[in-house]
Amino acid sequence: QVKIGVLALQGDVREHLRALASAGAHGMSVRRPEELEAVDALVIPGGESTTIWKLAVAFDLLEPLRARIKEGLPAFGSCAGMIMLADRIQGGIDGQQTLGGIDMVVRRNAFGRQVDSFEADLDFAGRGPLRAVFIRAPWVESVGADVEVLARAGDRIVAVRQGPLLATSFHPELTGDARVHSYFVEMVKEL
Ligand code: GLN
Repeated sequence: QVKIGVLALQGDVREHLRALASAGAHGMSVRRPEELEAVDALVIPGGESTTIWKLAVAFDLLEPLRARIKEGLPAFGSCAGMIMLADRIQGGIDGQQTLGGIDMVVRRNAFGRQVDSFEADLDFAGRGPLRAVFIRAPWVESVGADVEVLARAGDRIVAVRQGPLLATSFHPELTGDARVHSYFVEMVKEL
């Protein structure tokens, strides 16, 4: 069984652990550098990317996370996690940093404010319709040549993959449908 960490600085960690279990992986929360060392892959949950960034600094995780991603650690970022995996962002606060890894520009809060949260049915990676929950969600403005687009909502890119890195604007951990987590677990096993 692959060991998949869930970055537990902020966000819906428990829901991701549950979805990973449904997808047949062994999930564990990651809050310290030693815990990061122990996992084969990492989920970065939604929440607030500004808070996750600041807490990553406070917990001495920012550089270790960047280093492991650079070494090829498979990672899946949802919503704020997608922002964390973006090489470039729009609409960040002053000085806001990401971990980077995916050659894309992500626009924070692109779909609107909290009240503008919505659900939509998407075709995710050709795996049929999937109910997606968007909460103050970002979208992907543009992607580099090595980035595969896995889903769109209308004409907006909302799921991408680049090598071992996967990102969604939406929250697949909230619907009880573990197909996106299963896709990630399969990715991790294939790598
Ligand atoms: N708006 C949040 C951010 O910019 C993301 C929202 C979410 O993760 N649900 O980080």
